[in-house]
Amino acid sequence: MLENFKFVLSHTTHPGNIGASARALKVMGLSQLALVNPSNFPSAQATERASRADDILASAQVFVTVEEAVADCRLVVGTSARTRTLPSQLVTPRELVELILQQPARVPVAILFGTENSGLTNDELHMCNYHVCIPTNPEYSSLNLASAVQLIAYELRLGFAQTPELPEQRILDNEQPISREQLSGLLEHFDEAMRKTGYLKQNHEKQIDIRMNRLFSKANLTHSEMNILRGFLRSVLYRCQ
Ligand code: SAH
Repeated sequence: MLENFKFVLSHTTHPGNIGASARALKVMGLSQLALVNPSNFPSAQATERASRADDILASAQVFVTVEEAVADCRLVVGTSARTRTLPSQLVTPRELVELILQQPARVPVAILFGTENSGLTNDELHMCNYHVCIPTNPEYSSLNLASAVQLIAYELRLGFAQTPELPEQRILDNEQPISREQLSGLLEHFDEAMRKTGYLKQNHEKQIDIRMNRLFSKANLTHSEMNILRGFLRSVLYRCQ
């Protein structure tokens, strides 16, 4: 189960944090590290801080956008020290484990970490199904990036090591959750229909984009649900020709 988790570090500025995150993952038996536009990678500082977890660094995938990094995942979980302005359900790392255990099947999960100075951007926050906040001192709530990686990796290990593996439930392909890439395709389809029907005016309305993203991130659509929506959008677009 631990192999289903991908830790995605967005726009990391200090290479030492990348190395320390690799080490944090390896000690907990996790291995998937993805880096989105790191300022300095590969770097001797990252390798040094990784200690003997340099195999995790060597296999780390590097992406230009967060969208690409999470495209193959079915759940995207944001991590944040700030809690007031989050767009969807906020949970502790322990509650996250419970939520993932309730999923009908073992699905690939991305855990998203923000840049050191400012955390996750609004666009990144809005692509998440859930948000995790590590409970801290309310007057000093921001952990070092690699420390946050460590604590979440630890909770995942604790949660999944304590849970006896249930036999995999048989789920029809159509009832499996869609990937992030498929969700992006659906959102583009909606955007096209909204523009062609005149609901969206010429100049793009960013707030609608954000809310549609949030709505469908919360909905955890299955393939059959996506197919209904896409079929409907096709018929709307057909009538607009
Ligand atoms: N000033 C930023 C902190 C960035 S720390 C902010 O207010 O969000 C870098 C990253 O570490 C964060 O984006 C988040 O991914 C993680 N992190 C730090 N503290 C955390 C906490 N208490 N709970 C969950 N994640 C945290």
